[in-house]
Amino acid sequence: MTNKLKPETLCVQAGWQPKNGEPRVLPIYQSTTFKYDTSEQMAKLFDLEESGYFYTRLQNPTNDAVAAKIAALEGGVAAMLTSSGQAANFYALFNLCEAGDHLVCSSTIYGGTFNLFGVTVKKLGIDVTFVDPDAPGEEISAAFRPNTKALFGETLSNPGMNVLDIEKFARIAHSHGVPLIVDNTFATPINCRPFEWGADIVTHSTTKYMDGHATSVGGAVVDSGNFDWDAHADKFPGLTTPDESYHGLTYTKAFGRMAYITKATAQLMRDLGSIQSPMNAFLLNLGLETLHLRMPRHCQNAQQVAEWLEANEKVAWVNYPGLKGNKYYELAQKYMPNGTCGVIAFGLKGTREDAIRFMDRLKMICIVTHVADARTCVLHPASHTHRQLTDEQLIEAGVAPDLIRLSVGIENVNDIIGDIEQALG
Ligand SMILES: *Cc1c(COP(=O)(O)O)cnc(C)c1O
Repeated sequence: MTNKLKPETLCVQAGWQPKNGEPRVLPIYQSTTFKYDTSEQMAKLFDLEESGYFYTRLQNPTNDAVAAKIAALEGGVAAMLTSSGQAANFYALFNLCEAGDHLVCSSTIYGGTFNLFGVTVKKLGIDVTFVDPDAPGEEISAAFRPNTKALFGETLSNPGMNVLDIEKFARIAHSHGVPLIVDNTFATPINCRPFEWGADIVTHSTTKYMDGHATSVGGAVVDSGNFDWDAHADKFPGLTTPDESYHGLTYTKAFGRMAYITKATAQLMRDLGSIQSPMNAFLLNLGLETLHLRMPRHCQNAQQVAEWLEANEKVAWVNYPGLKGNKYYELAQKYMPNGTCGVIAFGLKGTREDAIRFMDRLKMICIVTHVADARTCVLHPASHTHRQLTDEQLIEAGVAPDLIRLSVGIENVNDIIGDIEQALG
């Protein structure tokens, strides 16, 4: 029923549907555990024979309601909340891969994900090849190996603001019999729904626009239910052959289109335990209730700020996909006709020190390690989030050493521009 409702309505209404006499507002089920009348009832839950709550590490009603809202917004069959966006991307990948496997990944991704896949996941024996997402399809295809299990990219890359050609990526992934995983954090399902363009799994750092108020770190993995794991059974034994830790249950046989997300919850969350706290899920839900109001305002403000920056003689370059001359303007129009997000990347004429001086002079706009919340903020990735990357890796990740990441909030745009103007001096 809820999938037929429009996104604006889903933001407000999806997820928590109270029964007669229950609280109208999503309650915080601040309980680690749940009570059953008989031992047998509880045993069936442990065998996945019946669905129900027994321990919050696996599932919690507050979290599930919020996950259901995110799944409805993305047009997926189900979702799982995680403790952070980092955990979401790790789970999304690790649900498909084990030691000896391989991932093909866009090089223009968030610095944290670049480290996760390029360093930590490699230590687990999963190899990664980074590709230029703007390269011709054949070149990206050439990175695939027989043991490749997924292709990964970001709808809008943080912080370079490159737009992913999702259809191209989906075509390449599917021609190699693997799913496309898309991190849709910056666009949010208000501005782009990657499943409509062929992506199979979507991830989020809900810490950003979804929460939108910078209160709670969190993440989500969303399953489209569209990938046919059985058609590529040899590649995905974790989904298509018996799981010994569940008495030989086979996820695709037992759960059909819900196989991937059920395995992620029942096996990975059980074993690794990076759950979102119900309190954070509650706050996330409050954020989601206004996501459809905030995103257009972020985009509108960012468009005006980007145009103002572009016209300013002290500014060397501006990267915002809403600008007509932008390299990604056409792709943005195709995938995000209502706007991309509030994040602008730009560089000032002069040295790296000039960029730092500009940032230090800002008054209302704060320097924070955050992005995509209601308050306008600024960051210098080469000195902060991407500090671990070499200059070469920075360029590969689409992060120029002079890049300033400006996250335009929902204040009055003239106040935002006024602060930038005085700081430019
Ligand atoms: C912030 C971010 C992440 C990591 O999310 P956390 O919630 O900080 O762990 C992943 N992907 C993108 C695109 C992000 O912006």
